[in-house]
Amino acid sequence: MNDSILVKGARLHNLKNVTLAVPKNKLVVLTGLSGSGKSTLALDTLHKEGQRQYLESLGMVTGFLSRPEVDSITGLSPSISVDQHLTNRSPRSTVGTVTEVFTYLRVLWARIGHRPCPACGRNTPPAYHVSGDEVWDDESAGGEPDETPRAGPTVPCPHCGTPIPEMGMAHFSFNKPAGACPTCTGLGTVHQADLRRLIDHERSVAAGAVHGWHPSVVERNTAILQAAGRHYGFAFEADQPVKTLGAAQYDLLLHGVDSPEFRRHFPGAAPPTTVAHGRFEGAVTNLLRRYADRIEDAGYREKIERFLVNETCPDCQARACAPRAGASPSPGSASSRPRACRSASSPHGSTRCRGASPPKSGSSPTPSSPTCTNACAGWSTSVSGT
Ligand SMILES: [Zn+2]
Ligand SMILES: [Zn+2]
Repeated sequence: MNDSILVKGARLHNLKNVTLAVPKNKLVVLTGLSGSGKSTLALDTLHKEGQRQYLESLGMVTGFLSRPEVDSITGLSPSISVDQHLTNRSPRSTVGTVTEVFTYLRVLWARIGHRPCPACGRNTPPAYHVSGDEVWDDESAGGEPDETPRAGPTVPCPHCGTPIPEMGMAHFSFNKPAGACPTCTGLGTVHQADLRRLIDHERSVAAGAVHGWHPSVVERNTAILQAAGRHYGFAFEADQPVKTLGAAQYDLLLHGVDSPEFRRHFPGAAPPTTVAHGRFEGAVTNLLRRYADRIEDAGYREKIERFLVNETCPDCQARACAPRAGASPSPGSASSRPRACRSASSPHGSTRCRGASPPKSGSSPTPSSPTCTNACAGWSTSVSGT
């Protein structure tokens, strides 16, 4: 009884006196012909009755809500509904933001969260004097966090007196600058280049080793790479398979003259000032930049995504919240973290941060990005040694 929802005699629309048990804590799929009553059962019967029972359990008058045509439904929990017509494909949109459950959770955390004082580390109780005119901070799903975090009002730590920022709803949102992890801007994942897909290490640059480079681009970039080599005093071997390139050449090709990966080979040397003189951006750097520049363009994004892997953000481990916000507030507890802004509200988030180890892409043992400088450097050395 407790592990299923029992529906008896549902008769709305096309439902012909349907009686069934829906198991709880399972992903349950209703299938059937168009018009057979799937939505009527799920939304107009189960969800509607769930809402009615929930309001009733709070002691609210529900006379204005019509009961669905059904003999009885037992075992229902308060429910949320996400309908099929969601057009927002933004990764910032989650079940929590769409249903606004997340907004209420943030109110709760902001009002009653305990947190450690950043100076003395001792537990500070919730600041109850949050001003009544606090802006109701709606979680708009979509769009980038565009406001810059402001230094808000502070409250003194009750133990050491250090002023600490008053908690606000924005501190708990991965979609607001105050609350988002700066590394992944609140997405919980970072994109990194999939080197196995981007580069054919058996080929030379001149023969098209970098996938996605049009022949005219190959010619142009080869000239820039060779100019860069001359600037730094080495010969860029555009006719040799990429796997035989030395570490400096490889880092130049991938990361470009401005990258720490390449600059470590020539500390102190000023990079070329013009493209003609070898100011090469780097195949990976260029890819990630183009992706970021056109993040709103779904078609373009998909074209580039075949060269990318999505990795759990190394700084927030997919929690998507800024460290301070993530470390602080847990209703009633100073030590435990809130169940992570993101994973608490998002099926994506909980998938991303399941377990301690980030998901590995089978095809890319060494994704490249500024966050894995060491791994990449190590790999490029081993490649050049083969
Ligand atoms: Zn303190
Ligand atoms: Zn992050």
